[in-house]
Amino acid sequence: MAGQVQGKVALVTGAACGIGAACAEVLAREGADVLMTDIDDARGEALAATINARGAGRAHYMHQDVAEEARWPEVVAEAERRFGGLQVLVCNAGIGIMVPSVLDMSLSEWRRQMAINVDGVFLNVKYGIPAIRRAGKGGSVVMISSVAGLRGSAGLAGYSATKGAVRLFAKSVALECAGARDNIRCNSVHPGIIATPIWEKIPAGMGGGRNAPIDPHQLAAAGVPIGVASEAKDIAEGVLWLACDASRHVTGSELVIDGGMTAGRIGSIGQR
Ligand code: NAP
Repeated sequence: MAGQVQGKVALVTGAACGIGAACAEVLAREGADVLMTDIDDARGEALAATINARGAGRAHYMHQDVAEEARWPEVVAEAERRFGGLQVLVCNAGIGIMVPSVLDMSLSEWRRQMAINVDGVFLNVKYGIPAIRRAGKGGSVVMISSVAGLRGSAGLAGYSATKGAVRLFAKSVALECAGARDNIRCNSVHPGIIATPIWEKIPAGMGGGRNAPIDPHQLAAAGVPIGVASEAKDIAEGVLWLACDASRHVTGSELVIDGGMTAGRIGSIGQR
């Protein structure tokens, strides 16, 4: 049976670990050829080799810092040269810098987070969409935002600002593509608390205060209505649906995968 994205070529950024890695695996499992990029070359190369050994869709890894404009034309050209075009963009690479208060955040931390989480997505669209148009088969752009892009998050004000920007950027890109009648859709995905290595990295950017890595399972037990953290593959399955033709009428929309975090709280009046 043909895979759900058989015949499509996908570009996944931040694909060496966490959600991006799961997206690369799931898209390849369903038949897509996947160009994976990241700054963690050892993990990226190893995952591409694993995917290729499985023998469904092919994978190729390239080093890329998404905030560096000069690399983008090379990455897109490689997708076209190696796999014959481009149909799916998964704009995933992102970092989270947590500080006790936004007042403790330096301008260089703010700019670094903006550069990766927002500039990186802009560049992905700027260089990726023309390639999707050149291939002429339409396509799907999936931007990984966050529940922090839907509501405020104390300690993560800068991160929230980037993810809110991605949410509205996705809608605007969706409308421009719809207006161009280019058969390219664009949507945002809003994960809640996902057990990935990002939580071990967050304290590195802190100006002060906590010094232990954040445990997503503990956090989820306290703050996620279903009581558990999601896994990266839970997000990847949503990305797969947005990438495939089953979602062909979905554009400018938000897919929230958060274990009920944004629905409200359990245990309040009327819920017991
Ligand atoms: P992750 O486990 O840290 O994986 C992100 C990958 O991106 C890492 O391999 C990282 O490399 C790489 N990366 C970092 N900076 C980069 C850059 N400038 N250019 C290219 N690659 C870069 O993170 P994740 O949890 O999978 O998060 C993926 C996306 O989901 C992010 O946009 C994040 O904001 C979003 N998200 C995550 C959660 C969650 O709970 N995990 C929730 C909501 C939204 P290094 O390891 O070398 O830094």
